[in-house]
Amino acid sequence: MFLNDPITKVPFVGKSYAAVLAGLGVNTIYDLLNYFPRTYTDSSQIYQFSELNYDEKRATIGTLVGIVSKRTRSRITIQKASFVNKDNDEISVTWFNQPFLENSLKEGKTYLIFGKLNPKQNYRELSSPEIEELSPDTKHIGRISPVYNLTAGIKNKWLRARIKWLIDKLEYIVDFEDSLNPKIKDKFKLMNLRESLLQVHFPDNQEILDRARYRLSFDEMLEIQKKILQKRNEKAKYKSRVIVQSENQKGELNKLISKLPFELTKDQKKSIDQILTDFQRDNPMDRLLQGDVGSGKTAVAAFVSFVANKLGFKVAYLAPTTILSEQIFNSFKNILNQENIILINSKNKNHDLIENNSIIIGTHSLLHLEPEKFDNLNLLIIDEEHRFGVKQRELLSEIESRCRPHKLTMTATPIPRSLAMAIWGDTQISFIKTMPKGRKETKTLFVPFSKSNDSYSWIKEQVKKDNHQIFWVCPIIQESEKLTAKSAEETFKKVSEIFGDSKVKLVHGKTKNKEEEIENFKNREFDILVTTPIIEVGIDIPNANIIVVESSERFGLAQLHQLRGRVGRGGDQGYCLLFSSESNLTEDQKKRLRFFCTTNDGLELATFDLKRRGPGEVYGEKQSGIPDLKIADIFDEKLLAETKEAAMILEKI
Ligand code: ADP
Ligand code: MG
Repeated sequence: MFLNDPITKVPFVGKSYAAVLAGLGVNTIYDLLNYFPRTYTDSSQIYQFSELNYDEKRATIGTLVGIVSKRTRSRITIQKASFVNKDNDEISVTWFNQPFLENSLKEGKTYLIFGKLNPKQNYRELSSPEIEELSPDTKHIGRISPVYNLTAGIKNKWLRARIKWLIDKLEYIVDFEDSLNPKIKDKFKLMNLRESLLQVHFPDNQEILDRARYRLSFDEMLEIQKKILQKRNEKAKYKSRVIVQSENQKGELNKLISKLPFELTKDQKKSIDQILTDFQRDNPMDRLLQGDVGSGKTAVAAFVSFVANKLGFKVAYLAPTTILSEQIFNSFKNILNQENIILINSKNKNHDLIENNSIIIGTHSLLHLEPEKFDNLNLLIIDEEHRFGVKQRELLSEIESRCRPHKLTMTATPIPRSLAMAIWGDTQISFIKTMPKGRKETKTLFVPFSKSNDSYSWIKEQVKKDNHQIFWVCPIIQESEKLTAKSAEETFKKVSEIFGDSKVKLVHGKTKNKEEEIENFKNREFDILVTTPIIEVGIDIPNANIIVVESSERFGLAQLHQLRGRVGRGGDQGYCLLFSSESNLTEDQKKRLRFFCTTNDGLELATFDLKRRGPGEVYGEKQSGIPDLKIADIFDEKLLAETKEAAMILEKI
């Protein structure tokens, strides 16, 4: 047998099972070996009959005395069995609709039974427990046993048995080998691969399981660290322009900064300094600027663009949406007050205006310019890189390899520090942690379905009192039969009726002139903007202080945080109201939304998100270099540090 053999080599896996397994990403022998448990149930401790419990599943051992299967009036069958232990104590066990047990369980044989007592019975009765014959080699009970992610058509017990078969046959897999360098294995005291696979699926005890998981996580994370290191080494070879400011230019920069209507925060200043220091090397900068929504990344970008551009070279700023490109364009014009800033997007085709020293701001349209237009490019800024697709990233890297500009990537999704350090190293990230002065934390309230009516009068009062504007966000544009989510169209009707005195407008992704409409909103031509998440990223309208999110349970936390970042920008108290389209949210949905209401800290939210979804999904694989992980835990600081060290050792061997 070979690792690459199809999964049908495993007994009882025919074509139809193979198809189901393929849906889980399991196609080969290798895949099945590496289909790690999602969690484990621990039935390793064996309890007496008298210690069995109503609330917690416990394992016990008993010998079958008898079993009968009865049919009830409602066509349900009940299996009633009786077991005894060594002391001749007796216990009853009941199952439903498992008539085959009557034949498969044998009187006189001893079994492991794992379950809870039935609280409705006044004698000791286990209801629907798991059961397995006692043997030195039990797969399911009497041990820590694996629980796998499943899909329709596959049961955990079935999958366990298939994997158990494979693990027992490990020595017959011809090309199975532990390819990790022995020096690394020694240095970090890692378990060997064969043992790790065996233990990760069928662990002897918790301690060995931890070591097995660590070894497998090590392999997974080491691959990532090697790639990151390799990329970094490659980049170190590239040459870019050295950008050094003259005293005169420094003076000009400071003058510009002093003209701002506000003072830069400490972190904004520090980030600018770090970037300007990178500029002085002849190797292209590759820096991530990380700052929560509204922390003021645009100003940082504008000032460093000024410096990169001053010497007569181009700067390109890539924004994720048309609306944002226009907003950034206006901000740059305001902050820098120069004529050579050019906007390029689907509506503004100013290709011919590009000169050798232009600051080009645009959407992905910018990527489709003739390559020569990028000659002389000194600085490339990418806003929210993970929003760009594969094709666009390819175009980006073509531009990079053509002109080797310094690169600044900006993101509002915070990265836990330990992770950032381990992956990028401290020298490549600038953090903006301090928010601009006078910013108040937006108050977030969950409005249950039953309370939505009450909240309207509150909103009316707020609007009357402070003359503020409102974003009203819906997950979808049109009503849909499949989704219960609130649509922007129906919400627009509702809001127009309720807020008869206010001017309400509907603007969504399909609205013509949506950019102008949003500009009109900014200029206070109407009061309430009913919309979709097109306003999610970056939109800056300081007078809008309330954001209502319809069907909020449908949004991810990062997205909600971005939406919430749209308000509270002008210094007054901002409010975010989370509406729900359903009267019955799941526990998980409630938990998420409640947690969201308790914190304004993007890092806490990202961490919460990261524990449920992989980093690839949260940050974008391209940006973080980390795909969604099968087994490694990205919060494991020891693992991050050791694999990074191992990657560096291996490079020198
Ligand atoms: P983001 O980091 O989300 O891109 P922006 O750059 O859009 O944030 O800034 C958000 C708002 O904060 C803008 O209106 C901007 O003018 C304002 N701002 C930026 N820096 C400061 C500061 N140091 N003090 C006060 N307001 C600031
Ligand atoms: Mg921004």
